[in-house]
Amino acid sequence: MTVRVPAKVNVQLAVGAARPDGFHDLANVFLAVGLYDEVTATAADELHITCEGPDADQVPLDHTNLAARAAQKLAARHGLAPDVHLHITKDIPVAGGMAGGSADAAGALLACDALWGTNTPRAELLDICAELGSDVPFSLVGGAALGTGRGERLRPLEVGGTFHWVFAVADGGLSTPAVYAEFDRLTEGVEVPEPLASKPLLDALAKGDPTALAATLSNDLQPAALSLRPSLADTLAAGTAAGALAALVSGSGPTNAFLTRDAPSATKVAEALLASGTCRTARLAPSPAPGATVL
Ligand code: ATP
Repeated sequence: MTVRVPAKVNVQLAVGAARPDGFHDLANVFLAVGLYDEVTATAADELHITCEGPDADQVPLDHTNLAARAAQKLAARHGLAPDVHLHITKDIPVAGGMAGGSADAAGALLACDALWGTNTPRAELLDICAELGSDVPFSLVGGAALGTGRGERLRPLEVGGTFHWVFAVADGGLSTPAVYAEFDRLTEGVEVPEPLASKPLLDALAKGDPTALAATLSNDLQPAALSLRPSLADTLAAGTAAGALAALVSGSGPTNAFLTRDAPSATKVAEALLASGTCRTARLAPSPAPGATVL
């Protein structure tokens, strides 16, 4: 059973003050983009993971892999042994702020559910996703959605057209907990407002209007990501100079996202980013993309 799962970009990431449990309340507008991992589940004697792709050496192959944890949780729910070989074909940058691990978890869940014939109701799959991580439910549903709470409570959003993105992949990742810790440090003693979704941004998504969306993109984690990795500012500037409508750090970074007017403009921006030498690679991806899909 092979499942294809998309990456995401946060077109708005509003972050509240740290809660007593250490998590932050979010208003997180997710948009699934057309960069995909594939997860293949095959019957095996015991749970094991393999991975191929340019970043495969950075992916843990033990039971800390989120795909393995997804298989274990689904098996436990149905009283089964998680005896499965999960092969991940990885195209989503690792530790890039594009929810690659979350995508693999959602993919593994759907692939194992199909392989084992467990027919888990959608609502239960979403519960397991939320236990695995704040971004995992969105990887299952795809499209566009507003996430509240830690980001895991989802409301689907309307998207009125195709948006063309370029993603500049940096050398090396950034740890999401480290970026939140830097956010806490930078906002110490500052009144952090309650995170709320932006109405103009939701309207721009619903209209499919890239210029309006560009004017409303925001990421409260961007100052923290730039503080930890100042060179990202050069990448953002290179994409903007090449004609991107807007540039922002994707989630916790270090991948940078560039919204462009149309497909030809996206190609130009990607070429300019590569030529600038400020990123490892530049990838084109349209959005929205469908959620986890059995192939
Ligand atoms: P997010 O955008 O949800 O914050 P991310 O895209 O920044 O996540 P991931 O690619 O999900 O980051 O990887 C973060 C870390 O999780 C990796 O450094 C790796 O150690 C671990 N990890 C566990 N499972 C996976 C997986 N299937 N793929 C990639 N990384 C994984």
